[in-house]
Amino acid sequence: VQPLHFYNSLTKKIELFKPRRDEAVRVYHCGPTVYRRQHIGNMRRNLFADFLRRTLEFSGLSVADVMNITDVGHLTQDDIDAGEDKLEVAARERKMTPADIAGEQIKNFFADLEALNIKRAQHYPRATEHIEQMQRLIHALLKRGHAYQTASGVYFDVTSFPSYGRLSGNKLEEMAAGHRVDVREEKRHPADFALWKIADPGHVQQWDSPWGRGYPGWHIECSAMSLAYLGSAIDIHTGGEDNRFPHHENEIAQSEGATGKQFVRFWMHNAFLNLKGAKLAKRTGEQITLETLTERGYSPLAFRLLTFGVHYRQIMEFSWQALDAAQENLASWRQLLRRLRELSPPDDAEFKADPPVVAAFLRALSDDLNTPSALAAVMGYMKELNKKLASGKDGLSAAAAGGALLTLRRLDQVLGVIEPLEHELTAESVPAVVQRLAEERETARQAGDFAKADKIRRQVETMGYVIEDTPTTPRVIRK
Ligand code: AMP
Ligand code: ZN
Repeated sequence: VQPLHFYNSLTKKIELFKPRRDEAVRVYHCGPTVYRRQHIGNMRRNLFADFLRRTLEFSGLSVADVMNITDVGHLTQDDIDAGEDKLEVAARERKMTPADIAGEQIKNFFADLEALNIKRAQHYPRATEHIEQMQRLIHALLKRGHAYQTASGVYFDVTSFPSYGRLSGNKLEEMAAGHRVDVREEKRHPADFALWKIADPGHVQQWDSPWGRGYPGWHIECSAMSLAYLGSAIDIHTGGEDNRFPHHENEIAQSEGATGKQFVRFWMHNAFLNLKGAKLAKRTGEQITLETLTERGYSPLAFRLLTFGVHYRQIMEFSWQALDAAQENLASWRQLLRRLRELSPPDDAEFKADPPVVAAFLRALSDDLNTPSALAAVMGYMKELNKKLASGKDGLSAAAAGGALLTLRRLDQVLGVIEPLEHELTAESVPAVVQRLAEERETARQAGDFAKADKIRRQVETMGYVIEDTPTTPRVIRK
């Protein structure tokens, strides 16, 4: 296992990462608010989560991860400013129910993840399906003296939690000066925040509770679902920079207030994706989504590659020129892969992955997820390969080409670009009948019908193709 170092937003230092327990690393990611399609800034955030997860796995650790889906309540800073539940507003405007809008957006969300080759988390719990867990947590906070009830709901008492402000560096005295208290809420301190809100009759999403019919506050869902799926003490919690305050500060107060244990060891936050110098925001301004990119003829993988080239704590200034360059890179990667696949013999089992570039790649990633430096190692390696290929017939032997392919596939465990490119190459070169036979064979194989699987394999071979079994999906290539 390669030692990993990450910047911890809580201590403001790069620290050696060690999981709390020997089993899987437990990671919680703040997820999408599903009233509108996720934009490419949100996708930058999701790619950061994916690079992190794949790096943990690449280094030899296993990961248990959860990303919540916010389908009720105010959550982001955007919403706090606007003061209204985004799902309720969208539902009213589009004459749909909040549940229908959430359903539609969750579908888009998963389609976008898939197009970007982002690995699925183990769980995507929805807030509306965990009201009970949230209420239990609120109950515990009331019992432990961290919360109080008013006519408008239940509030967290920030003065009851001495380390409030540790993550964000905000001081209670300053917050008291900077905020005005909404008189209707009857809060004791301006920084106190809602755990449960009593609903107006017009509010569509509302549930019974011991404190009156209403809906959960802005932050309680993450404390409740993290506890439900990962336990009281987790390894890593991630989110975009805007999640740090108040959202994550409040999560810490809620979780630690209720359990008395340190909630999270490592807090990791990605910087924003900006457009013309300003944060791309879901609530206002121009919306660029993955759909916008594909409509303009870009591959989602070009965006993945572009994002990999920027360190997650660096602002990513989006431009179409930068995306053009990534798309061009992708085209040359595809070309290189095509050449290597043509050269290499189909049975590559005997080749070993090339250690120096793999080691350099992992070294970069283990240094606070330095993806730009990891990418530079890959590009350098590809440049060497291209040079050898250009130097004529004996530039790269079949064995060396096979070894190079294996190496690239290994690096791709984090990059996540090579495999889909190879998939494209395979799809473009293998006739549909052969592809279908390969799928039939795989079905037979999984059903334990090896006689049939073998028969199909021989049939495919007489047609001039071989089926290779890879750890993921079987690959068909020309003999
Ligand atoms: P939302 O769907 O607005 O609740 O946001 C989902 C996640 O995306 C949160 O973790 C945000 O911090 C993150 N996020 C929102 N806007 C951006 C942006 N422009 N760049 C990077 N991350 C963002
Ligand atoms: Zn959250």
